Amino acid sequence: MSTPGTSDTASRVDDGEILISGGTLIDATGAPARPNPGVLLRGDNIEVVGPGAAEAAGAGAERIDATGRTVMPGLIDAHCHATFDDVQSNDELFFHRDPTTAALVAGQNLTKMLRAGVTAFCDPDTLFAMGPSLRNATEAGVVAGPRISTGVQALVTSVGGTAGRLIPDEGVVGYAQVVNSQDEAVMWTRRHIKYGADWIKIHATGLLPGRSGEVLGWSRDELRAVCDTAHELGTSVMAHCRSPESVTACAEAGVDMLLHASFMDAEGLEAVIASGSVLCPTFTFLANLADFGSAVGAGAGMEDIFRGEIAATAKMMRSAYDAGVPLLCGSEAGFALTPYGHWHGREAEILVNELGLSPMEAIVCATANGAIAMRLEGRIGTVTEGCLADLLVLDGDPLSDIRLLNDRSRIVEVISRGRRVDLSGPWPSHGPIPGAKVRNWATEILTYERAYD
Ligand SMILES: [Zn+2]
Repeated sequence: MSTPGTSDTASRVDDGEILISGGTLIDATGAPARPNPGVLLRGDNIEVVGPGAAEAAGAGAERIDATGRTVMPGLIDAHCHATFDDVQSNDELFFHRDPTTAALVAGQNLTKMLRAGVTAFCDPDTLFAMGPSLRNATEAGVVAGPRISTGVQALVTSVGGTAGRLIPDEGVVGYAQVVNSQDEAVMWTRRHIKYGADWIKIHATGLLPGRSGEVLGWSRDELRAVCDTAHELGTSVMAHCRSPESVTACAEAGVDMLLHASFMDAEGLEAVIASGSVLCPTFTFLANLADFGSAVGAGAGMEDIFRGEIAATAKMMRSAYDAGVPLLCGSEAGFALTPYGHWHGREAEILVNELGLSPMEAIVCATANGAIAMRLEGRIGTVTEGCLADLLVLDGDPLSDIRLLNDRSRIVEVISRGRRVDLSGPWPSHGPIPGAKVRNWATEILTYERAYD
Protein backbone atom coordinates (compact mmCIF):
# COMPACT_ATOMS: atom_id res chain seq x y z
CA MET A 1 0.00 0.00 0.00
CA SER A 2 1.27 3.45 -0.76
CA THR A 3 1.57 6.19 1.76
CA PRO A 4 -0.85 9.04 1.09
CA GLY A 5 0.89 11.77 -0.86
CA THR A 6 3.56 9.51 -2.32
CA SER A 7 3.64 7.96 -5.73
CA ASP A 8 3.44 4.36 -6.84
CA THR A 9 5.34 5.10 -10.00
CA ALA A 10 8.80 4.42 -8.52
CA SER A 11 8.41 0.82 -9.61
CA ARG A 12 8.56 2.05 -13.23
CA VAL A 13 12.18 3.10 -12.87
CA ASP A 14 14.16 0.71 -15.03
CA ASP A 15 17.92 0.77 -15.32
CA GLY A 16 18.21 -2.09 -17.81
CA GLU A 17 20.96 -1.69 -20.37
CA ILE A 18 20.99 -2.23 -24.11
CA LEU A 19 24.20 -2.16 -26.13
CA ILE A 20 23.88 -1.63 -29.88
CA SER A 21 27.02 -2.35 -31.84
CA GLY A 22 27.90 -2.58 -35.51
CA GLY A 23 26.18 -1.09 -38.51
CA THR A 24 25.88 2.54 -39.55
CA LEU A 25 24.82 5.33 -37.21
CA ILE A 26 22.63 8.22 -38.32
CA ASP A 27 22.56 10.36 -35.18
CA ALA A 28 20.22 12.98 -36.76
CA THR A 29 22.27 15.93 -35.58
CA GLY A 30 22.96 16.62 -39.24
CA ALA A 31 26.39 14.98 -39.04
CA PRO A 32 27.18 12.51 -41.82
CA ALA A 33 26.35 8.86 -41.26
CA ARG A 34 29.28 6.98 -39.75
CA PRO A 35 30.17 3.48 -38.65
CA ASN A 36 28.35 2.93 -35.36
CA PRO A 37 30.98 3.40 -32.64
CA GLY A 38 28.67 1.72 -30.10
CA VAL A 39 25.51 2.98 -28.37
CA LEU A 40 24.76 2.13 -24.74
CA LEU A 41 21.28 2.75 -23.37
CA ARG A 42 20.69 2.69 -19.64
CA GLY A 43 17.06 2.87 -18.69
CA ASP A 44 15.45 5.69 -20.65
CA ASN A 45 18.74 7.41 -21.37
CA ILE A 46 21.35 7.26 -24.09
CA GLU A 47 24.33 6.81 -21.81
CA VAL A 48 27.29 6.44 -24.16
CA VAL A 49 27.72 6.99 -27.89
CA GLY A 50 31.29 6.03 -28.74
CA PRO A 51 33.97 3.41 -28.47
CA GLY A 52 33.55 3.34 -24.68
CA ALA A 53 30.00 2.00 -24.95
CA ALA A 54 30.94 -1.69 -24.93
CA GLU A 55 33.28 -1.26 -21.97
CA ALA A 56 30.70 0.68 -19.98
CA ALA A 57 28.03 -1.98 -20.55
CA GLY A 58 27.34 -4.27 -17.63
CA ALA A 59 27.40 -8.05 -17.91
CA GLY A 60 23.62 -8.15 -17.96
CA ALA A 61 23.19 -5.73 -20.84
CA GLU A 62 21.04 -6.86 -23.75
CA ARG A 63 23.09 -6.82 -26.93
CA ILE A 64 21.86 -5.89 -30.39
CA ASP A 65 24.15 -6.59 -33.32
CA ALA A 66 23.33 -4.02 -36.00
CA THR A 67 25.96 -5.16 -38.47
CA GLY A 68 24.84 -4.31 -42.00
CA ARG A 69 22.01 -2.22 -40.62
CA THR A 70 21.22 1.40 -39.78
CA VAL A 71 20.84 2.75 -36.25
CA MET A 72 18.85 5.98 -36.00
CA PRO A 73 16.45 7.85 -33.69
CA GLY A 74 12.79 6.85 -33.56
CA LEU A 75 10.43 8.79 -35.80
CA ILE A 76 8.59 11.74 -34.28
CA ASP A 77 5.24 12.34 -35.95
CA ALA A 78 4.47 15.99 -35.29
CA HIS A 79 0.87 15.87 -36.53
CA CYS A 80 -1.07 12.74 -35.80
CA HIS A 81 -4.62 12.06 -34.57
CA ALA A 82 -4.45 8.99 -32.34
CA THR A 83 -8.16 8.90 -31.53
CA PHE A 84 -9.69 9.11 -35.03
CA ASP A 85 -9.21 5.44 -35.95
CA ASP A 86 -8.72 5.64 -39.73
CA VAL A 87 -11.98 7.52 -40.09
CA GLN A 88 -13.75 7.70 -43.45
CA SER A 89 -15.99 10.74 -42.91
CA ASN A 90 -16.67 13.60 -40.51
CA ASP A 91 -20.15 12.18 -39.97
CA GLU A 92 -18.64 8.97 -38.70
CA LEU A 93 -16.12 10.81 -36.54
CA PHE A 94 -18.57 13.25 -34.99
CA PHE A 95 -21.69 11.17 -34.46
CA HIS A 96 -20.89 7.47 -34.45
CA ARG A 97 -18.30 7.04 -31.75
CA ASP A 98 -18.56 6.54 -28.01
CA PRO A 99 -15.91 7.51 -25.46
CA THR A 100 -15.14 4.08 -24.03
CA THR A 101 -14.70 2.34 -27.37
CA ALA A 102 -12.75 5.29 -28.74
CA ALA A 103 -10.30 5.12 -25.83
CA LEU A 104 -9.79 1.37 -26.16
CA VAL A 105 -9.25 1.65 -29.90
CA ALA A 106 -6.83 4.54 -29.40
CA GLY A 107 -4.76 2.22 -27.22
CA GLN A 108 -4.49 -0.22 -30.11
CA ASN A 109 -3.58 2.60 -32.46
CA LEU A 110 -0.64 3.47 -30.21
CA THR A 111 0.68 -0.07 -30.65
CA LYS A 112 0.47 0.26 -34.42
CA MET A 113 2.46 3.49 -34.35
CA LEU A 114 5.11 2.07 -32.05
CA ARG A 115 5.55 -0.97 -34.27
CA ALA A 116 5.97 1.34 -37.27
CA GLY A 117 8.89 3.11 -35.61
CA VAL A 118 7.04 6.13 -34.19
CA THR A 119 8.44 6.63 -30.72
CA ALA A 120 6.85 10.04 -30.12
CA PHE A 121 4.03 12.03 -31.63
CA CYS A 122 2.09 15.25 -31.22
CA ASP A 123 -1.71 15.06 -31.30
CA PRO A 124 -3.40 18.40 -31.95
CA ASP A 125 -6.98 17.54 -31.05
CA THR A 126 -8.77 14.49 -29.73
CA LEU A 127 -12.20 12.87 -29.54
CA PHE A 128 -13.89 13.21 -26.17
CA ALA A 129 -11.00 15.44 -25.04
CA MET A 130 -9.05 12.29 -24.23
CA GLY A 131 -5.58 13.51 -25.28
CA PRO A 132 -4.21 14.23 -21.81
CA SER A 133 -5.68 10.98 -20.42
CA LEU A 134 -4.13 8.98 -23.25
CA ARG A 135 -0.78 10.66 -22.64
CA ASN A 136 -0.96 10.09 -18.89
CA ALA A 137 -1.99 6.44 -19.23
CA THR A 138 0.86 5.83 -21.66
CA GLU A 139 3.35 7.64 -19.46
CA ALA A 140 2.24 5.57 -16.47
CA GLY A 141 2.58 2.32 -18.39
CA VAL A 142 -1.12 1.43 -18.51
CA VAL A 143 -0.85 1.09 -22.29
CA ALA A 144 2.29 0.78 -24.38
CA GLY A 145 2.77 3.63 -26.79
CA PRO A 146 4.98 6.38 -28.08
CA ARG A 147 5.58 9.51 -26.03
CA ILE A 148 2.72 11.92 -26.56
CA SER A 149 2.37 15.67 -26.50
CA THR A 150 -1.21 16.67 -26.94
CA GLY A 151 -3.91 19.22 -27.34
CA VAL A 152 -7.49 18.71 -26.14
CA GLN A 153 -9.82 19.93 -28.90
CA ALA A 154 -9.41 22.32 -31.81
CA LEU A 155 -10.82 25.77 -31.12
CA VAL A 156 -13.04 26.93 -34.00
CA THR A 157 -14.98 30.17 -34.27
CA SER A 158 -18.62 30.33 -35.35
CA VAL A 159 -17.35 30.44 -38.94
CA GLY A 160 -16.57 26.76 -38.46
CA GLY A 161 -13.81 24.62 -39.88
CA THR A 162 -13.64 22.06 -42.65
CA ALA A 163 -16.80 20.17 -41.66
CA GLY A 164 -19.43 22.72 -42.72
CA ARG A 165 -22.69 22.55 -40.81
CA LEU A 166 -21.65 19.42 -38.99
CA ILE A 167 -19.93 21.91 -36.67
CA PRO A 168 -22.69 23.19 -34.35
CA ASP A 169 -23.19 26.85 -33.49
CA GLU A 170 -21.90 26.26 -30.00
CA GLY A 171 -20.44 23.52 -27.85
CA VAL A 172 -18.34 20.50 -28.77
CA VAL A 173 -18.43 18.04 -31.64
CA GLY A 174 -15.77 15.47 -32.49
CA TYR A 175 -12.40 17.17 -32.23
CA ALA A 176 -13.85 20.72 -32.21
CA GLN A 177 -14.73 23.20 -29.48
CA VAL A 178 -16.69 26.18 -30.82
CA VAL A 179 -15.75 29.57 -29.38
CA ASN A 180 -18.16 32.40 -30.09
CA SER A 181 -16.18 35.37 -28.82
CA GLN A 182 -12.70 36.40 -27.81
CA ASP A 183 -13.67 35.86 -24.18
CA GLU A 184 -14.77 32.32 -24.94
CA ALA A 185 -11.56 31.65 -26.84
CA VAL A 186 -9.55 32.75 -23.81
CA MET A 187 -11.79 30.76 -21.44
CA TRP A 188 -11.41 27.54 -23.43
CA THR A 189 -7.67 28.05 -23.75
CA ARG A 190 -7.46 28.19 -19.96
CA ARG A 191 -9.76 25.20 -19.55
CA HIS A 192 -7.76 23.08 -21.99
CA ILE A 193 -4.63 23.92 -20.03
CA LYS A 194 -6.43 22.97 -16.82
CA TYR A 195 -7.33 19.62 -18.43
CA GLY A 196 -3.65 18.99 -19.18
CA ALA A 197 -3.00 20.33 -22.69
CA ASP A 198 0.59 20.60 -23.89
CA TRP A 199 -0.70 22.48 -26.92
CA ILE A 200 -3.65 24.70 -27.75
CA LYS A 201 -4.93 24.00 -31.26
CA ILE A 202 -6.52 26.78 -33.27
CA HIS A 203 -8.47 25.78 -36.37
CA ALA A 204 -7.65 29.04 -38.12
CA THR A 205 -9.17 28.42 -41.54
CA GLY A 206 -12.34 26.74 -42.74
CA LEU A 207 -14.58 26.21 -45.72
CA LEU A 208 -17.49 28.49 -46.56
CA PRO A 209 -20.29 27.78 -49.02
CA GLY A 210 -19.57 29.16 -52.46
CA ARG A 211 -15.98 30.13 -51.63
CA SER A 212 -13.02 28.31 -53.05
CA GLY A 213 -10.20 27.39 -50.70
CA GLU A 214 -10.22 27.88 -46.94
CA VAL A 215 -10.72 31.30 -45.35
CA LEU A 216 -9.40 32.70 -42.09
CA GLY A 217 -12.20 32.49 -39.51
CA TRP A 218 -10.47 34.40 -36.72
CA SER A 219 -9.69 38.06 -36.08
CA ARG A 220 -6.12 39.00 -35.29
CA ASP A 221 -7.14 40.08 -31.80
CA GLU A 222 -8.71 36.68 -31.14
CA LEU A 223 -5.61 34.84 -32.36
CA ARG A 224 -3.37 37.02 -30.22
CA ALA A 225 -5.58 36.59 -27.17
CA VAL A 226 -5.31 32.79 -27.39
CA CYS A 227 -1.54 32.91 -27.92
CA ASP A 228 -0.95 35.37 -25.06
CA THR A 229 -3.15 33.37 -22.67
CA ALA A 230 -1.48 30.07 -23.54
CA HIS A 231 2.02 31.49 -23.37
CA GLU A 232 1.39 33.11 -19.99
CA LEU A 233 0.53 29.61 -18.79
CA GLY A 234 3.59 28.00 -20.37
CA THR A 235 1.66 26.27 -23.14
CA SER A 236 2.37 26.28 -26.87
CA VAL A 237 -0.07 27.06 -29.67
CA MET A 238 -0.48 25.43 -33.06
CA ALA A 239 -2.83 26.39 -35.85
CA HIS A 240 -4.34 24.73 -38.90
CA CYS A 241 -3.62 27.27 -41.66
CA ARG A 242 -4.64 26.60 -45.22
CA SER A 243 -4.62 30.07 -46.75
CA PRO A 244 -1.85 32.63 -47.27
CA GLU A 245 -3.43 35.29 -45.04
CA SER A 246 -3.86 32.79 -42.20
CA VAL A 247 -0.15 32.01 -42.23
CA THR A 248 0.73 35.68 -41.82
CA ALA A 249 -1.96 36.35 -39.21
CA CYS A 250 -1.09 33.30 -37.09
CA ALA A 251 2.66 33.87 -37.23
CA GLU A 252 2.23 37.52 -36.28
CA ALA A 253 -0.13 36.58 -33.44
CA GLY A 254 2.54 34.31 -31.93
CA VAL A 255 1.41 30.83 -32.99
CA ASP A 256 4.35 28.51 -32.31
CA MET A 257 3.68 25.81 -34.92
CA LEU A 258 1.83 26.25 -38.20
CA LEU A 259 0.19 23.13 -39.62
CA HIS A 260 -0.08 22.96 -43.43
CA ALA A 261 0.76 26.64 -44.08
CA SER A 262 -0.73 26.04 -47.52
CA PHE A 263 -0.08 28.65 -50.19
CA MET A 264 2.22 30.59 -47.84
CA ASP A 265 3.34 33.75 -49.66
CA ALA A 266 6.40 35.97 -49.27
CA GLU A 267 4.70 38.06 -46.59
CA GLY A 268 3.78 34.92 -44.67
CA LEU A 269 7.30 33.58 -44.87
CA GLU A 270 8.64 36.87 -43.57
CA ALA A 271 6.19 36.72 -40.65
CA VAL A 272 7.18 33.13 -39.88
CA ILE A 273 10.88 34.00 -39.87
CA ALA A 274 10.29 37.08 -37.69
CA SER A 275 8.11 35.23 -35.18
CA GLY A 276 10.29 32.13 -34.84
CA SER A 277 7.33 29.85 -35.65
CA VAL A 278 8.02 26.38 -37.02
CA LEU A 279 6.25 24.69 -39.93
CA CYS A 280 4.66 21.28 -40.14
CA PRO A 281 3.41 21.11 -43.73
CA THR A 282 1.74 17.70 -43.45
CA PHE A 283 1.78 16.99 -47.16
CA THR A 284 1.19 13.29 -46.56
CA PHE A 285 -2.61 13.42 -46.53
CA LEU A 286 -2.70 15.53 -49.70
CA ALA A 287 -0.08 13.39 -51.42
CA ASN A 288 -1.87 10.16 -50.58
CA LEU A 289 -5.12 11.60 -51.88
CA ALA A 290 -3.41 12.85 -55.06
CA ASP A 291 -1.39 9.70 -55.70
CA PHE A 292 -3.59 6.89 -54.44
CA GLY A 293 -7.02 8.41 -53.73
CA SER A 294 -8.66 6.89 -56.78
CA ALA A 295 -7.48 3.43 -55.69
CA VAL A 296 -9.55 3.71 -52.51
CA GLY A 297 -12.56 5.54 -53.97
CA ALA A 298 -11.75 9.01 -52.66
CA GLY A 299 -13.76 11.91 -54.08
CA ALA A 300 -13.10 12.05 -57.81
CA GLY A 301 -11.45 15.11 -59.31
CA MET A 302 -9.57 16.05 -56.15
CA GLU A 303 -6.19 14.75 -57.33
CA ASP A 304 -5.23 17.84 -59.34
CA ILE A 305 -6.38 20.25 -56.64
CA PHE A 306 -4.22 18.59 -54.01
CA ARG A 307 -1.27 18.12 -56.31
CA GLY A 308 -1.47 21.87 -57.03
CA GLU A 309 -1.56 22.69 -53.31
CA ILE A 310 1.53 20.58 -52.71
CA ALA A 311 3.45 22.13 -55.59
CA ALA A 312 2.53 25.70 -54.63
CA THR A 313 3.35 25.15 -50.97
CA ALA A 314 6.51 23.09 -51.46
CA LYS A 315 8.29 25.96 -53.20
CA MET A 316 7.77 28.28 -50.22
CA MET A 317 8.55 25.53 -47.72
CA ARG A 318 11.90 25.14 -49.43
CA SER A 319 12.50 28.88 -49.07
CA ALA A 320 11.55 28.63 -45.40
CA TYR A 321 13.94 25.72 -44.94
CA ASP A 322 16.74 27.66 -46.63
CA ALA A 323 16.01 30.59 -44.30
CA GLY A 324 16.52 28.31 -41.30
CA VAL A 325 12.88 27.72 -40.32
CA PRO A 326 12.59 24.23 -38.77
CA LEU A 327 10.35 21.90 -40.79
CA LEU A 328 8.62 19.08 -38.90
CA CYS A 329 7.18 15.89 -40.35
CA GLY A 330 3.53 15.07 -39.73
CA SER A 331 1.52 12.23 -41.25
CA GLU A 332 -2.00 13.30 -40.24
CA ALA A 333 -2.49 9.64 -39.38
CA GLY A 334 -5.97 8.79 -38.21
CA PHE A 335 -7.85 9.09 -41.52
CA ALA A 336 -8.71 6.34 -43.99
CA LEU A 337 -6.13 7.84 -46.35
CA THR A 338 -3.45 7.89 -43.65
CA PRO A 339 -3.99 4.79 -41.50
CA TYR A 340 -1.87 4.27 -38.40
CA GLY A 341 1.38 2.42 -38.91
CA HIS A 342 1.61 2.85 -42.68
CA TRP A 343 2.66 6.36 -43.63
CA HIS A 344 4.65 7.89 -40.77
CA GLY A 345 7.79 8.09 -42.92
CA ARG A 346 6.05 9.35 -46.04
CA GLU A 347 6.49 13.05 -45.19
CA ALA A 348 10.28 12.63 -45.26
CA GLU A 349 9.98 11.07 -48.71
CA ILE A 350 7.88 14.07 -49.85
CA LEU A 351 10.44 16.52 -48.47
CA VAL A 352 13.05 14.77 -50.60
CA ASN A 353 10.93 14.56 -53.74
CA GLU A 354 9.05 17.88 -53.61
CA LEU A 355 11.44 20.19 -51.73
CA GLY A 356 14.69 18.66 -52.89
CA LEU A 357 16.00 18.03 -49.39
CA SER A 358 18.68 15.37 -49.06
CA PRO A 359 17.53 12.16 -47.35
CA MET A 360 19.70 13.12 -44.35
CA GLU A 361 18.07 16.55 -44.11
CA ALA A 362 14.63 14.94 -44.32
CA ILE A 363 15.52 12.45 -41.59
CA VAL A 364 16.52 15.33 -39.31
CA CYS A 365 13.07 16.87 -39.97
CA ALA A 366 11.40 13.54 -39.13
CA THR A 367 13.36 13.02 -35.90
CA ALA A 368 15.40 15.83 -34.31
CA ASN A 369 13.05 18.66 -35.38
CA GLY A 370 10.10 16.73 -33.96
CA ALA A 371 11.49 17.52 -30.51
CA ILE A 372 9.90 20.95 -30.91
CA ALA A 373 6.45 19.37 -31.22
CA MET A 374 7.21 17.26 -28.15
CA ARG A 375 8.39 20.38 -26.30
CA LEU A 376 11.55 18.39 -25.51
CA GLU A 377 14.15 20.26 -27.54
CA GLY A 378 17.61 18.82 -27.12
CA ARG A 379 16.23 15.87 -25.14
CA ILE A 380 14.77 13.72 -27.88
CA GLY A 381 15.16 12.93 -31.56
CA THR A 382 18.91 12.40 -31.82
CA VAL A 383 21.24 9.55 -30.94
CA THR A 384 23.45 11.58 -28.62
CA GLU A 385 24.47 11.14 -25.01
CA GLY A 386 21.86 12.38 -22.57
CA CYS A 387 18.95 12.02 -24.99
CA LEU A 388 15.95 9.85 -24.27
CA ALA A 389 16.32 6.24 -25.40
CA ASP A 390 14.10 6.06 -28.50
CA LEU A 391 15.86 4.34 -31.41
CA LEU A 392 15.34 2.25 -34.51
CA VAL A 393 17.41 -0.36 -36.26
CA LEU A 394 16.63 -0.61 -39.97
CA ASP A 395 17.57 -3.39 -42.32
CA GLY A 396 18.87 -1.16 -45.11
CA ASP A 397 20.02 2.37 -45.76
CA PRO A 398 17.37 5.12 -45.68
CA LEU A 399 19.92 7.53 -47.18
CA SER A 400 19.82 5.57 -50.43
CA ASP A 401 16.07 4.87 -50.25
CA ILE A 402 14.09 7.20 -47.99
CA ARG A 403 10.94 5.11 -48.47
CA LEU A 404 12.51 2.54 -46.19
CA LEU A 405 11.14 4.61 -43.28
CA ASN A 406 7.65 3.40 -44.24
CA ASP A 407 8.59 -0.23 -44.76
CA ARG A 408 7.77 -2.09 -41.57
CA SER A 409 9.36 -5.26 -42.88
CA ARG A 410 12.71 -3.42 -42.70
CA ILE A 411 12.25 -2.00 -39.20
CA VAL A 412 13.93 -4.75 -37.22
CA GLU A 413 14.17 -3.04 -33.83
CA VAL A 414 12.12 -0.32 -32.19
CA ILE A 415 13.42 0.83 -28.83
CA SER A 416 10.99 2.99 -26.90
CA ARG A 417 11.84 4.49 -23.51
CA GLY A 418 14.89 2.24 -23.35
CA ARG A 419 12.96 -0.98 -23.94
CA ARG A 420 12.76 -3.19 -27.02
CA VAL A 421 9.29 -3.23 -28.56
CA ASP A 422 7.92 -6.68 -29.38
CA LEU A 423 7.57 -6.66 -33.17
CA SER A 424 6.54 -10.31 -33.41
CA GLY A 425 3.00 -11.52 -33.75
CA PRO A 426 0.30 -10.44 -36.15
CA TRP A 427 -0.27 -6.79 -36.97
CA PRO A 428 -2.80 -5.38 -34.48
CA SER A 429 -6.16 -4.70 -36.07
CA HIS A 430 -9.81 -4.87 -35.16
CA GLY A 431 -12.97 -6.04 -36.85
CA PRO A 432 -16.13 -4.00 -37.34
CA ILE A 433 -17.39 -2.26 -34.20
CA PRO A 434 -21.18 -2.14 -34.08
CA GLY A 435 -22.47 1.32 -34.95
CA ALA A 436 -19.04 2.85 -35.50
CA LYS A 437 -19.07 3.07 -39.29
CA VAL A 438 -21.36 5.01 -41.57
CA ARG A 439 -22.60 3.22 -44.64
CA ASN A 440 -23.16 5.37 -47.70
CA TRP A 441 -26.18 4.48 -49.78
CA ALA A 442 -24.17 5.03 -52.92
CA THR A 443 -21.12 6.82 -54.22
CA GLU A 444 -22.96 7.80 -57.41
CA ILE A 445 -26.47 8.91 -58.31
CA LEU A 446 -28.58 6.12 -59.76
CA THR A 447 -30.29 7.85 -62.66
CA TYR A 448 -32.57 5.91 -65.00
CA GLU A 449 -29.95 6.28 -67.74
CA ARG A 450 -27.19 4.95 -65.54
CA ALA A 451 -29.27 1.90 -64.70
CA TYR A 452 -30.14 0.96 -68.27
CA ASP A 453 -27.35 2.45 -70.43
ZN1 LIG B 1 -4.75 17.34 -38.47
